[in-house]
Amino acid sequence: MKRKYKVVACHRCGNAQITTANTSFTCFRCGANNRISRESILYLANSHEEAREELIRIKARKRS
Ligand SMILES: [Zn+2]
Repeated sequence: MKRKYKVVACHRCGNAQITTANTSFTCFRCGANNRISRESILYLANSHEEAREELIRIKARKRS
């Protein structure tokens, strides 16, 4: 099964979010257009739930 849910990070503000896009995504927080590269993908998930759980984990880690 293909892992199609990606947890990605914005290159401008570092905001992490979930996308299913393959080439680019727009940051929810700052509106920057990001090209999806190996560096911008934090996590690959099979389901939206899995991606969401990892996103929560990533955000919790960043809050320091
Ligand atoms: Zn951003």
